[in-house]
Amino acid sequence: MIPYTPERIRIVLVEPENPINVGTVMRAMKNMGFGELYLVHPAEMDMQKTQISAHRTDDMLQNLHICDSLDEALTGVHESYGFSARTRSETWATLDMESAVGRAIDIVRNDQQVAYVFGRERTGLTNDELLRCTCRVHIETSSYSSLNLAQAVLLAVYATFRQSKSAEDAPAPRPVAQIDNHLPTSVPATIDAQRRLVERIESMLVDISYFKSQAPNSAMHRIQNILMRADLHDDEIQLLMGICAEVSNYARLIERGIRPPKIQANGKLKT
Ligand code: SAH
Repeated sequence: MIPYTPERIRIVLVEPENPINVGTVMRAMKNMGFGELYLVHPAEMDMQKTQISAHRTDDMLQNLHICDSLDEALTGVHESYGFSARTRSETWATLDMESAVGRAIDIVRNDQQVAYVFGRERTGLTNDELLRCTCRVHIETSSYSSLNLAQAVLLAVYATFRQSKSAEDAPAPRPVAQIDNHLPTSVPATIDAQRRLVERIESMLVDISYFKSQAPNSAMHRIQNILMRADLHDDEIQLLMGICAEVSNYARLIERGIRPPKIQANGKLKT
């Protein structure tokens, strides 16, 4: 385990519009020891205006990452948490903020990267963007659940700061014995590798005509949930990508009237 380092938790704002909000986010981050701010496709804004609400954060302004897409902002991240004011009826994996923060700290101490993802001031995150997150995080409020963007970020970074302190002060807990059956040489898959696998599975399912009607189908969402729970490593992603490619190839051969031989896992020909 390495010590908790807040640089391993990046804050991602999707399409922020208001420089005062961005400045207030920078200030909250600096107050709580965070430094990595990613803006996805921000509205045209005078970045110097962020400094109105963000005293002494010009270093953060220099270190700002501007990205064209959420996928780009999540490159290299192992888990991402999509902060959302809304409660959704579908099968979204949801964590309360305290649990999400505890998990993020554990992940960081395992030398991995985390992203906290926040949505637009007016409309929040789209379903497609939430699908790119390991799970959804809801900050508990009264029945009026929509926090100001910068205040939501402040609560998240403050909770992380507080929990990281109590994790340092507390005697080291006895780790729960984990059954780790990953190859010793493999490394945990990043979010972008998982996303490529989900896209590959989807194109395979199209190739075998899995989707039967033109109505939206929640299968991809549920497959994504399974994969995120599975703690996949890079070699396992490669294996599954390879299987998908073979299924697609097989479907293509069948279309051309070719039937390849069926060889079993033990190497014997299936008759
Ligand atoms: N009307 C929008 C609210 C956007 S507030 C909506 O219904 O989604 C801007 C961002 O702040 C949200 O996208 C979310 O990332 C964060 N946020 C606001 N309130 C939150 C809450 N109660 N829990 C988690 N995140 C919240």
